[in-house]
Amino acid sequence: MDTFLNHKILPDFLDRMKSLISNEGKEIPSLTRIYQKEKLIAESSNEVEKNSDSSYHSEILCLREAKERIGTRYLTDCLLITSLEPCLMCAGTILLSRIPTVVYLLPAKQGEGISSLSIETIYSRNFFPELICIPANLSKEAFKSFFKARRKKFN
Ligand SMILES: [Zn+2]
Repeated sequence: MDTFLNHKILPDFLDRMKSLISNEGKEIPSLTRIYQKEKLIAESSNEVEKNSDSSYHSEILCLREAKERIGTRYLTDCLLITSLEPCLMCAGTILLSRIPTVVYLLPAKQGEGISSLSIETIYSRNFFPELICIPANLSKEAFKSFFKARRKKFN
């Protein structure tokens, strides 16, 4: 899986993110993809502004799409890759979906993301995904310039 992650999933993801950044502007540049074994089964980007609803994070939308696609509640043989470390809301959904591998390209601030959860705090759950952080400049720059543009707009 590691070879596939590094040679296929990651470069494809970065390419897709590049086109997303050039097309969007209003939404946070968050992209999520889910692979079942080596097959891409779902892709989503944030739709918070579009729906005026803070729960429309790309991870949640992507998990929903993947579940519809394969017709099951649990995604036990899947991998999720996303541009920013999943927030605590998405972390909850990821845990409940039992997705075993979560890859992200930019760590969240301390206390704000899935890596801040400790197994002890996850009541009676005997499942926790493997978290793989692969820091990518593209993701870092995309979020930086998004928030910079936003600050300009609101100041
Ligand atoms: Zn989230």
